[in-house]
Amino acid sequence: MRYESTRGQSPIVTAAEAIKKGIAPDGGLFIPTEKIYLSSAEIENLCSLSYLERAAYILKYFLTDFNEAEITDCVAKAYGGGKFSSLEVAPVKQLTRNLAVLELWHGPTCAFKDMALQILPQFLVRSLTKTGETSEIVILVATSGDTGKAALEGFADVPGTKIIVFFPEKGVSEVQRLQMVTQVGKNVQVVGVQGNFDDAQSGVKEVFSDEVFSALLAKNNFQLSSANSINWGRLVPQIVYYFSAYADLVKDGRVKNGQSINFVVPTGNFGNILAGYYAKLMGLPINRLICASNANNVLTDFIKTGTYSRNREFYKTNSPSMDILISSNLERLLAELTGHQAEKISQWMTELKNNGSYTVDAELVGFIQEHFWSDFATNEETLQTIQKVWGDLNYLMDTHTAVAMNVLEKYRNTTGDNSYTVVVSTASPFKFNGSVAQAILDEKIVAEKSEFELLKELSFYTNWPIPEGLRDLNHLKVLHQRVIGKDEIGKAVKEILLG
Ligand SMILES: *Cc1c(COP(=O)(O)O)cnc(C)c1O
Repeated sequence: MRYESTRGQSPIVTAAEAIKKGIAPDGGLFIPTEKIYLSSAEIENLCSLSYLERAAYILKYFLTDFNEAEITDCVAKAYGGGKFSSLEVAPVKQLTRNLAVLELWHGPTCAFKDMALQILPQFLVRSLTKTGETSEIVILVATSGDTGKAALEGFADVPGTKIIVFFPEKGVSEVQRLQMVTQVGKNVQVVGVQGNFDDAQSGVKEVFSDEVFSALLAKNNFQLSSANSINWGRLVPQIVYYFSAYADLVKDGRVKNGQSINFVVPTGNFGNILAGYYAKLMGLPINRLICASNANNVLTDFIKTGTYSRNREFYKTNSPSMDILISSNLERLLAELTGHQAEKISQWMTELKNNGSYTVDAELVGFIQEHFWSDFATNEETLQTIQKVWGDLNYLMDTHTAVAMNVLEKYRNTTGDNSYTVVVSTASPFKFNGSVAQAILDEKIVAEKSEFELLKELSFYTNWPIPEGLRDLNHLKVLHQRVIGKDEIGKAVKEILLG
C-alpha cells in the first residue's frame, strides 16, 4: 500500500514515509492509493479475536512495509500491558434494544486521543528506522488540553524521541494542567505559556517554519515532527474500533453479520468520523455516519448545504475538545468522494485559506448526504441529555458523548430511522466532571467545590469509580514548572534541546 497527497503535487510514498512526514510536502494530507475490502467472512472471523488481534489484522492492510512481528509489537506496546483499564480496550455497552455506546476512553488519559496516540509513537520509531533516519525526533505540541497529555503518555520514554508540550497556562482545566505538569519520563518537557491556545499554536508553528533553526537542529542531530491528527499514523488505528465494535455486536447476537448500523460521532477535526468512513469503504456495513457538532457547527452547515465557512463566531462550549472551526481531516473525505481529484481539492483549500470558505458542487453534496447526516447540540441541550440518560438508563456520559446522544435523538425524530446505532463515546465523564456534576448533582453540592472535590462527589453519588489516571492527581509531584512569555517558545525549544 502506498500513499499520495490529496493535493497531487507530492511524490507517492510508503506508509513509513507518510507517518514520518505527517503532512505531504505540497501541504496536502496523505491518503491510500488503493482500496481495501474485507469480506463478510473476514468480518465474521474478527468476532473471535481480541482487540489486539483485531488491530493487527486491520493494520496489516495499510502498513504493508511493516512485517507481522512489527505490527504485533506496536499493538502490544500500545494497547497491552495494562495500559488500558478495560481488557477489551474499546468496550461496547448495550443501553437499549437498538442503542449501544462504544467507550473509547479507557486509556491512560481518559479520552479517545489515547486510541491513536498510544500507537503513533510505536509506528513512528519503526518508520524512522525504515526510512534510514538517524536523527533524534523532537515532537512539538501546542495543546488546548487533551492532546498534550495523550501525546506525553504516548511518547514518554520512547527511544529516539523527545517531546515538548506547550499549553496556555491559564487556558486549561486544573485536572488537565495537573495531568501534564506531573508527567514522568526522561524525554518529556512541559511548558506553560502566558497566553491563549492560539498564542501557543502560533509559536509552535513559527518554530516549524524557521528554516535557519531547522538547519541548526539538523546539525545537532535533531529533527522536528508533530503528532497532530492529520498524520495518517493517527487516523489508521481509529479504523480498528469501528470493526471491533461491529464484531462485538455480531458476537453478542445484537446484530446479524451484514446488517447495516449507524454510528454517531462527536466531531471536531473530523478524524474520528473519517476513520468510520474508511471502515465503511472497506466493507463494514454502515448505513449513516452521524456527525454531531456543538455550537461551533461549521460541519453541520457544510453537510447540509455544501458550503464550508469558518467566517463565523467562535464559541467556548462545555464540549471544549470540539471547539474547532477548521476540521482538517475533511480534506481527506473530499478527496475520497471525488475519486482523488487533486486539482479540485487544492482549489477549495486555497479558497478556505484566502476567503475562509468554499462551496462544493451539488453532485458532491449528494454523495456526502448519502453517507453522512449532521446536526448540533447547544450547551443547555448537552447538560439536559447527560441528566436524562443518567435518569432513564443509569448511564453516565461526558459532555462530548452527550452531544452525540442529543444529535441521535434529532436524527431519529427527523428521519424516522430507528435502526441499530452506536454512539461513539470520546471521554470519561470524570474528565469533564464540572459540567457532568452540574448536570446531575444538586446545585448546593456543586457550589464552590474544586474539581477534585467534585470528582469525589460524582463518584459517591453515581457509584462509578474515579479512573486511575485522575484519582490521585492532586497528590502527584509537580515535575514541570517552567512558564514562559508567549513570544519565547522558540527560545525555550532552543534551550531545552541545545542547552
Ligand atoms: C478530540 C476529541 C473529539 C473530536 O475528535 P475529532 O477526531 O477531532 O473529530 C471529541 N471528543 C473528545 C473528548 C476529544 O478529545
